[in-house]
Amino acid sequence: MVANPGRGDRRRGVGTMDDFETTKGVDPIESFEDMGLKEDVLRGLYEYGYEKPSAIQQRAIMPILQGRDVIAQAQSGTGKTSMIALSVCQVVDTSSREVQALILSPTRELASQTDKTIQAIGSHANVQAHACIGGKSLGEDIRKLEHGVHVVSGTPGRVYDMIKRRSLGTRAINLLILDESDEMLSRGFKEQIYDVYRYLPPDIQVCLVSATLPHEILEMTSKFMTDPVKILVKRDELTFEGIKNFFISVEKEEWKFETLCDLYDTLIITKAVIFCNTKRKVDYISEKMRSSNFTVSSMHGDMPQKERDEIMNQFRTGESRVLITTDMFARGIDVDQVSLVINYDLPNNRELYIHRIGRSGRFGRKGVAINFVKNDEIKILRDIEQYYSTQIDELPKNIADLI
Ligand code: ADP
Ligand code: MG
Repeated sequence: MVANPGRGDRRRGVGTMDDFETTKGVDPIESFEDMGLKEDVLRGLYEYGYEKPSAIQQRAIMPILQGRDVIAQAQSGTGKTSMIALSVCQVVDTSSREVQALILSPTRELASQTDKTIQAIGSHANVQAHACIGGKSLGEDIRKLEHGVHVVSGTPGRVYDMIKRRSLGTRAINLLILDESDEMLSRGFKEQIYDVYRYLPPDIQVCLVSATLPHEILEMTSKFMTDPVKILVKRDELTFEGIKNFFISVEKEEWKFETLCDLYDTLIITKAVIFCNTKRKVDYISEKMRSSNFTVSSMHGDMPQKERDEIMNQFRTGESRVLITTDMFARGIDVDQVSLVINYDLPNNRELYIHRIGRSGRFGRKGVAINFVKNDEIKILRDIEQYYSTQIDELPKNIADLI
């Protein structure tokens, strides 16, 4: 694999047939042409650099387009969010000015990333999309919505606000998609999702998408989904071979910092994301790195949105290469050329592990994840290993060769 492939060079056929436990009768469709997409949507796709659908796209797009409720799981970086964007571009009627599809995401950054993908893929089909996210001007949201858009991609709080203000009409919404749906249906978000859901038409089509769908989440779906098509991945197929996992033993917390500094030259070979478990720690570590003359960016949910946007932008463009952040960055964010993820702290649950390491190795690229593990944490690491039937070895010396 080349170090920096353009979209066209990426590995073909991302994901494999054997990874899926699919509802019977769902046959993969191996080309976008065979999906009956509108000419303008196809053109948008090709211009965006897509040639062939990934494994999940081959299986889940048709049921979504046919109006079925769908639960779609696939490894991180295999094109689930892009599939959402593509599907809404196909299903909305652009001769109307009403919102017909609503996509909810857990973070503002992800909601706006999805909005941008829709705008790109839907540019020729004249699909109008808008991101309704917190931290942005209410006036601008109201103006855009009143002018009329076909798709809203948002975070639950702002979307609810817009519905309550009657700026976001729900009458014509016939498709609700929850990206990162296990997160959206977990304790922190469930109420907010339900608040929005109550305003939507009763017969609405619902689609759930995520790399991780724990049992308890799948169980609750019968409450708001009708005979869903399920495309699920077995747990031991979730960490796939593209991402290599390692650990470094650190005797105590204080040693982590030095270890990170030692790795700095490796971090900047491409781009790296470093995860800490708290915002305070993100601030603390980044300050300490900067005062030791290392260039790093940092981002977390307590920063003003304008600053978050700037940092995100610098990291996307490559102006910055090392980002220290919290789990706000763990899900869905797709940044080109991230090939290294460091868990400065081990994540608080098994699902987050998958999402964090999945910031690297996007769409068939290579990735490396390095876990800093204190002596008393080795059992947490072993638990992750066992849960996903994967192997996490001690970091070898030739780390740079692996990136
Ligand atoms: P996921 O939501 O599964 O993590 P994304 O939808 O964010 O994955 O896609 C990961 C990357 O792969 C993005 O850069 C996206 O543009 C790209 N991608 C998705 N589908 C295709 C495709 N069919 N062909 C080429 N690139 C694709
Ligand atoms: Mg995604």
